Amino acid sequence: AETRNSGDHATRGWPRPHVVLLPSAGMGHLVPFTRLATTLYSCHGCDVSVVTALPTVSSAEARHLAALFAVFPAIRRLELHLASFDVPDFAGADPFYVRYEALRRSASLLAPLLAGASASALVADIALASVVIPVAKELRLPCYIFFTASATMFAFLAYLPTYLDANAGGGQAIGDVDVPSVCRVPMSSVPQALHDPDDIFTRQFIANGRSLASADGLLVNAFDALEPEAVAALRQGTVAAGLPPVFAVGPLSPASFPAGEAARDSGDYLPWLDAQPARSVVYVSFGSRKALPRDQLSELAAGLDASGHRFLWVVKGTVVDRDDASELSDLLGEGFLQRVHGRGLVTMAWVRQEEVLKHPAVGLFISHCGWNSVTEAASSGVPVLSWPRFADQRVNAGVVARAGFGAWVERWSWEGEDGVVSAEDIAEKVKMLMADEAVRKTAASVREAAARAVATGGTSYRSLAEFVQRCSSGS
Ligand code: UDP
Ligand code: UDP
Repeated sequence: AETRNSGDHATRGWPRPHVVLLPSAGMGHLVPFTRLATTLYSCHGCDVSVVTALPTVSSAEARHLAALFAVFPAIRRLELHLASFDVPDFAGADPFYVRYEALRRSASLLAPLLAGASASALVADIALASVVIPVAKELRLPCYIFFTASATMFAFLAYLPTYLDANAGGGQAIGDVDVPSVCRVPMSSVPQALHDPDDIFTRQFIANGRSLASADGLLVNAFDALEPEAVAALRQGTVAAGLPPVFAVGPLSPASFPAGEAARDSGDYLPWLDAQPARSVVYVSFGSRKALPRDQLSELAAGLDASGHRFLWVVKGTVVDRDDASELSDLLGEGFLQRVHGRGLVTMAWVRQEEVLKHPAVGLFISHCGWNSVTEAASSGVPVLSWPRFADQRVNAGVVARAGFGAWVERWSWEGEDGVVSAEDIAEKVKMLMADEAVRKTAASVREAAARAVATGGTSYRSLAEFVQRCSSGS
């Protein structure tokens, strides 16, 4: 962790920049922020601070932050104390979105933290953009916005205000959205919350979209070769007028945190994977923050069983990990667990997904297509059977399908829609993809392209170096 590349600014005699990072909430945002933190620190010679707001929503975030600061003691922690606010109008709202709102309402409290930090630049999460940019401007601190998901979704977000002004004035519902020069996002792929103009997420999303032009620059965890149209449309301003420079810096590389995450991780799946033949295992995970309904869980279990393939399945019972008191046998039944014993490994614990995806035994990833999962599959060259459920996941599944390193059955269930995908459907699709040589080849070429992008001299490497250069020269 302590080996550092001193960065271009050192050879050019610029001062070492101090970059302050401000993530929002949920592992899907925290993971790419910590990857950005460690890459800026280790590969580009920056001083780095991370703003944290405690307690975190999930215990996964608490463990991840503890591990970051333990393994990288030089990365400083700035603690933000959240302003208290009334939540009654948010009863039943997604706890991660409620945290975005709490952070947004605490934006003014950032001023003293930032003023005391002698920062060169602030990099804030997209969920906080519209409230944080004015605070940074007041301090004359350059403010960059980091979009932790796909460039395609970023293009959608940047374009949405224009779409609404033209088509849906007066709070009408969102229909199919043709993102210029990028792709059509059909109404059925628009994140669920955005269909309700009064949802807190919708209000934040639109305000953030409108604020992008006032940022000093935009970072996205994407790379040119995977989403060429979307990256170009953001850079050329096709999706919104007056956007600042765009830096496509992905897929940001993982930093391993052995100390922290291992504590909660039995790790027994790694020796099990070692004992399986190459590309024989289907890895199944729907991310860190959503559980499948019970009836869908049983069909998935039966489908994996019927596919005849080996599998490693990470099961979640609740949205927030702290609330999860369920037992595997309650969720899936003792009979199932006994029947698949040896052939299928099912766990409710946190697994080190990047290691799992890099393991030679893994041949397919059934994924909800959270963007981090997609980038990890791309970097590992593992084909994806996409089963998006929520938020930006259908847009991301479209990226996977267009790039050809996976498949997406568009009629498969989406949160808020009725219908359960049957065991037969699941088994058939798994068998097909496990036997698909073409998809495996494409996945291998995507892996090569991802590696080239982040290697010294690659498109993402150069983009991040240019961002660092701007930070150290104060622009
Ligand atoms: N993750 C993991 N182990 C788990 C579950 C998730 O390492 O058991 C990681 C995964 O590798 C990814 C992140 O948590 O980096 C989840 O982010 P993603 O965008 O894929 O989905 P989200 O959880 O936000 O829906
Ligand atoms: N979990 C998570 N992130 C973590 C650890 C756990 O999302 O870092 C989820 C996990 O998938 C499970 C639940 O939280 O659904 C309980 O996990 P824990 O590791 O606490 O399970 P235990 O070891 O107590 O069975």
